Amino acid sequence: MTNPYRTHTCGELALGHVGQEVKLSGWVHRRRDHGRLIFVDLRDRYGLTQVVFSADRSPEAYEVAKGLRSEYVIRVQGEVVARPEDMRNPHLKTGDIEVWAGRADVLNPAKPLPFEIDIEKPVPEAANLKYRYLFLRRESAMQRLIMRHRITHWVRNFLNARGFVEIETPLLSKTTPEGARDFLVPSRNFPGTFYALPQSPQQYKELLMIAGFDKYFQIARCLRDEDPRADRQPEHTQIDMEMSFVTREDVLALLEEMLIGLVEEVSDRKLLFKPLPRIPYAEAIARWGSDKPDLRFGLELQDVSAIVAKSGFRAFAQTVAAGGQVKGIVVPGLAGLSRRELDEVNARVQQLGGKGVVWVAVGEGGARASTSHLEPEVIQAIVAQTKANVGDLILLVGDTPKTVAAVLGQLRLDFGDRLGLRDPRVVAFAFIVDFPMFEWDEERQRYDPVHHMFTRPRPDSLPLLDTDPLAAVSEQYDIVCNGLEMASGSIRINERGLQEKDMQMVGLSLEEARSKFGHLLEALEFGAPPHGGVAPGLDRLVMVLTGTTALRDVIAFPKTQRGEDLMMDSPIPATEEQLRELHIRIVGD
Ligand code: ASP
Repeated sequence: MTNPYRTHTCGELALGHVGQEVKLSGWVHRRRDHGRLIFVDLRDRYGLTQVVFSADRSPEAYEVAKGLRSEYVIRVQGEVVARPEDMRNPHLKTGDIEVWAGRADVLNPAKPLPFEIDIEKPVPEAANLKYRYLFLRRESAMQRLIMRHRITHWVRNFLNARGFVEIETPLLSKTTPEGARDFLVPSRNFPGTFYALPQSPQQYKELLMIAGFDKYFQIARCLRDEDPRADRQPEHTQIDMEMSFVTREDVLALLEEMLIGLVEEVSDRKLLFKPLPRIPYAEAIARWGSDKPDLRFGLELQDVSAIVAKSGFRAFAQTVAAGGQVKGIVVPGLAGLSRRELDEVNARVQQLGGKGVVWVAVGEGGARASTSHLEPEVIQAIVAQTKANVGDLILLVGDTPKTVAAVLGQLRLDFGDRLGLRDPRVVAFAFIVDFPMFEWDEERQRYDPVHHMFTRPRPDSLPLLDTDPLAAVSEQYDIVCNGLEMASGSIRINERGLQEKDMQMVGLSLEEARSKFGHLLEALEFGAPPHGGVAPGLDRLVMVLTGTTALRDVIAFPKTQRGEDLMMDSPIPATEEQLRELHIRIVGD
């Protein structure tokens, strides 16, 4: 039986079909009334086809066309006709032809829409999320999700071809150690107890290595009850992977092949580095002020501590004497910034946690600084060392190494944006390696794992766990791209003793470690192979491969920053009956 709705899609007809009688179904994208002729651009996922309704040739169909409005769903039947040469549209796949409707049926009308589909003007967040299914009708929104599908599909094929087994792991799980807050799900059968939704399949994938699967992957949903932060979603998707009997370089080589293949075979982006650089963490912090540097442009941080150490400008000299640093970035061509703009830079530095900025503007007649306490020869030495040219602006910040990196790292990105240096068509993937094992949590007075507590220390750092934990280096590796962290991974601890020791170092008592992670600790005693893995974030990968900076653009049904689903209207209170079944009582504040 032939399909009653269509013989072709709206993106298919070309000169080869001229003379054929066809049927198309789709949405009224645009309608132009030219008196006795009405033109309708009919749209479906595959494209647009121009349909012509003539009062003279097909009065009945013409009558239907008169009543059509935007986004009505219709079916048309008619003949494919070549457009006159001068009316052809080379930008449209079907631009050489049009369909002269002999018959038309309205399959379903549409109310006036809250925003246009055919004109891609920005839509306020509330309408965008509430009417997401309408927003997704837009060409660009739909194409991004189709691209997401192609990326996922390509990755599945890639990993399958290399022997990876795709295995699903539970959603109803137990607390996982990624460091965010867990979403809890009350158990009806066990009153007062809760499952946790997984922040990642981390423990399951390690257990699958202990089971002997050797190579695992999963396109896995990860749920983290994070505080509202710009461009975060409570659920995200990872390409979760784990492998046995591998070194760090084995994992990186595989990722490198995968990322290069994705960029070159699936996307239309330009790959900046091939092979991908492996950059030690300390070098990333020193040169770009960040462990997720945007490598598409320069403006690297330069250390002038040695020059200013002996200067009469006490703020800098004392900072260096106290073990701090003075570093700067050279912004090309901005020596002429106005006083007001320089004040804004200063305010930005303070907002980022710095004390303020000292600037040096390099002019034709010499360099001027924002403070008269910097001696001319010191200014000269700074200009010479930073290789600033006439017309450049040097921005200097003095503070603890951590604050200097944070402030200048962000300032570098700000000016990268301002100077148009962050080209979305370019992707600069790189690996960051040799991360520290721990960072010090001032508030809670304890060591936090920089990655997570299953990450292995580098062999030469093992003794440091007892003597100088903050100097210990781990087997963690990250993938970064365009200033975003795309993935973290590591070679794991696979022996119980070291795992218990590490858990205690990050603040768990032995009892807690055993009660929360007893299953894993025990599994490590049953012949756990050496293993390691990684979990590239699919959402971010799609972002960089489609050139968008908004997470929401690559997710079909995103939530607001506060985690509300405006379309489904969720979360909502549970009914009395649901609460009773779950043995839960809601208490007021
Ligand atoms: N589970 C880790 C994460 O979500 C990734 C990994 O170690 O494989 O960051």
